[in-house]
Amino acid sequence: MALRNVLVVEHDNDTLRKKSREITEITDKIRTLAEDMKETLYEKNGVGLAAPQVGMLKRLIVVDIGEGPITLINPVIAYRKGSQKEMEGCLSVPGVWGIVERPETVIVRGMQLDGEMTEFEATGLLAIAFCHEIDHLNGVLYTDKVIEYVNPDDTQQEGK
Ligand code: ZN
Repeated sequence: MALRNVLVVEHDNDTLRKKSREITEITDKIRTLAEDMKETLYEKNGVGLAAPQVGMLKRLIVVDIGEGPITLINPVIAYRKGSQKEMEGCLSVPGVWGIVERPETVIVRGMQLDGEMTEFEATGLLAIAFCHEIDHLNGVLYTDKVIEYVNPDDTQQEGK
């Protein structure tokens, strides 16, 4: 396993703003990428990371809100309900935080690294993390959706 360099806005917009491609075959390269993304996520104290953030335009995300890692290939939001407005940050947009409106509940479907399809019903922070990371796969950054930027001086921050 190895740490990967996390791309940042403006400098790496040519990659971060592109749509990622579907993964059609789970190769050793994909498995290594997933492991490296997990390691990078923990090193950066983030709650989620999408492959384009490490320079790979592939539909692969890793999310961990403190309940263990979830790795999903070709994830899609199959259902969304309600809304929540919470503060978000992003490892690719360092030093900035803002309030974003997201669904309160989502059902996300995707493939596991073993090729099995899986489904998660997520609420709260996990729903936010899925929406945020899946946006990355479409070249969308949370800053596109910010209602209001905030100064998080006295709050513990987490990047996604
Ligand atoms: Zn992000």
